[in-house]
Amino acid sequence: MEVKYVSTRNKAEQVTASQAVLRGLATDGGLYVPTTIPKFDKTLEELSDMTYQEVAYEVMKLLLTDYTEEELKNCINRAYDEKFDTEEIAPLTYADGAYYLELFHGKTIAFKDMALSILPHLMITAARKNQVKNDIVILTATSGDTGKAALAGFADVEGTKIIVFYPKDGVSDIQKRQMVTQTGDNTFVVGINGNFDQAQTGVKKMFGDKEMAAELNAAGYQFSSANSINIGRLVPQIVYYVYAYTRLLKEEKITAGQEINVTVPTGNFGNILAAYYAKNMGLPIAKLLCASNENKVLFDFFGTGVYDKNREFKLTSSPSMDILISSNLERLIYRIAGEDDAANAAFMKALQSDGKYEITEEMRKNLADFYGNYATEEETTKTIRDLYEKTGYVIDTHTAVAACVYNKYKAETGDDKVTVIASTASPYKFTRSVMQAIGEDDAALSDLELTDKLSEVAKVEIPGAIEEIRSAEVRHKTICEVDEMPQVVRDFLQIS
Ligand SMILES: *Cc1c(COP(=O)(O)O)cnc(C)c1O
Repeated sequence: MEVKYVSTRNKAEQVTASQAVLRGLATDGGLYVPTTIPKFDKTLEELSDMTYQEVAYEVMKLLLTDYTEEELKNCINRAYDEKFDTEEIAPLTYADGAYYLELFHGKTIAFKDMALSILPHLMITAARKNQVKNDIVILTATSGDTGKAALAGFADVEGTKIIVFYPKDGVSDIQKRQMVTQTGDNTFVVGINGNFDQAQTGVKKMFGDKEMAAELNAAGYQFSSANSINIGRLVPQIVYYVYAYTRLLKEEKITAGQEINVTVPTGNFGNILAAYYAKNMGLPIAKLLCASNENKVLFDFFGTGVYDKNREFKLTSSPSMDILISSNLERLIYRIAGEDDAANAAFMKALQSDGKYEITEEMRKNLADFYGNYATEEETTKTIRDLYEKTGYVIDTHTAVAACVYNKYKAETGDDKVTVIASTASPYKFTRSVMQAIGEDDAALSDLELTDKLSEVAKVEIPGAIEEIRSAEVRHKTICEVDEMPQVVRDFLQIS
């Protein structure tokens, strides 16, 4: 059965999956959602005999129906290969009563790799399917992490180029080194004399610049974006929940059909939405535990039915979750509103003008699958330390937010179902905070030096991603002013 996609703000116009991947955002500003959420056509037992790549195919074929079997398998095999440091791709580790689903074994040792390693292939396949002859130019502004994950995903993918702008003095040393050492002739990394907002505004301006679009088109290029609302990022994220369940089944930790709970450290609401889709496709998930840091807009939303971003923005030790507008929540709002596009559009309009909206009682009833809670900075630190002291297992700050919320949930409800916690970053990505938490910090050491010490403490080998940047050659040295961004793009593409 063919699955089509519509905008959450106007469902009149349907597009195919590949068109939705190419466009990213709908023209009305809405997000593409499938017109129906298909059910698995293999049993859980059948899936438990499959590899990660095979499970990926079985899940993705149901939602990306206009890709052929060959196209999809080709995308999957190019994405989930030796770039990952384990054949399992997303292994489970048991510690203190929960299973940690480690989503950080890719190139940048954080979970964005799970989607960004396949998005370039889905995109270029979509371009060819839709008779787009131009090369795709990905433009991204980054505050650190997404930029590197996108660079790693698009590097050397034929038919694409990627240009990343970062605030010259606004990213960590490790993040900067990761980006400026990026290989690939189609990659270009530029520091700007400005902050992240200015970088992002500069990129948005270029996306909206019709004259520039025409120049690019004449030279055989067109812009696209790799941001987290693309369904080409959402669909691959459903896979690892299915995979995790089937590994538990295979190892006889559960029986087929037995319900589990899933806990997700949440920012933009993409990762947990993927788990919700997995549940709707037939994966036996009981509760979805949505974990926030001190930017607890979502916790308040689940408790009151009011989404209100009018509050102080806090910088925490889990920066990838420092978000006040969780863009992907719009897909859930659309669904719990009974796929009412006009109602959803009205909520989003209110969010834009007043910074808040309140859902109806009826809609709140449809949120029964979710439990929301949050962890303070102290609680996050304590969770890392306690788990380490009890088991020797070291988790990063984002994962710790989830572990803390899981502990709160269990204490509150007594629910002791088998639980999977999405582990979204390697502790090596946030070494300083992690070492502070376990009482092993040393201010005299640089972040890179501290990794050696973490390796001794955690008894885990330093990931290749960190080893690489120690010695790698700096390949990207361009720095520009904010208003020079368009010219820098033209120069890189050799159009004048
Ligand atoms: C992006 C990110 C998150 C949040 O994921 P969302 O899909 O935005 O909710 C959590 N942890 C880490 C390490 C991340 O990079």
